[in-house]
Amino acid sequence: MTNERDPRQARPGFEADRGPRPRLLYIETDAARDENPVIDDITQKMVAAFRQAEGTGIHYRGFHMCSCGAHSTNTDYVLPSGHVTNSLAIHYLALHREEVPAEQIEIVEAFDYGIAEPNAEELNTGMQKF
Ligand SMILES: [Zn+2]
Repeated sequence: MTNERDPRQARPGFEADRGPRPRLLYIETDAARDENPVIDDITQKMVAAFRQAEGTGIHYRGFHMCSCGAHSTNTDYVLPSGHVTNSLAIHYLALHREEVPAEQIEIVEAFDYGIAEPNAEELNTGMQKF
């Protein structure tokens, strides 16, 4: 036991500030996205959780790009569960479900932050041009 204060506990009561932040849905896909998005309770739980997420305030020089051409914003997000994720989290669950590791699906399945329908921007299905 130690009485040392963790400097991350800047906002008491905000669950995400406690302890190290496990990373969720930083996956590398290598397939084209699914033709039809999977909008089940798992996707909807992530949508609800993601809408309650807070940006980490850390901005990277680049962004994360999916094998299908969708790309993330250049910052990470802290979900109410304390997991850190990226803006492709919903995209991966809806459009690359086959490639998401089972243990990560289980984590999202255990979320209890409500459910919500993803919008087009959250699904990130638009054709990305570079
Ligand atoms: Zn993709």
